Amino acid sequence: MAKTAGLISAWTRDLDAMIEVNAHVRAYCGVCKKYQDIDIPALRERVGGSYSLLNRRCKCRLTPGCKGWNKFMYLHGVMRILADEETRRRWESDWMRK
Ligand SMILES: [Zn+2]
Repeated sequence: MAKTAGLISAWTRDLDAMIEVNAHVRAYCGVCKKYQDIDIPALRERVGGSYSLLNRRCKCRLTPGCKGWNKFMYLHGVMRILADEETRRRWESDWMRK
């Protein structure tokens, strides 16, 4: 659905763009409720400037043994999830299956 594409800021597309706007990004886990700010320049050192956190999630790294998923949030007035609407819906339906 193209109509939702505009909801996500252009600077979220890759790490270089995030660094340019001095983005505030954090990883968040909906299960253990922990969050951690992401050091974007440090992440860029490891994965390169064209890496994107958009629509990405990973197994929880905030609490050892946690079965949750880390998702990425970005500060844009309030913290918003770094995923488009379609991806968010897919993740939500993953949760409901548990
Ligand atoms: Zn967790």
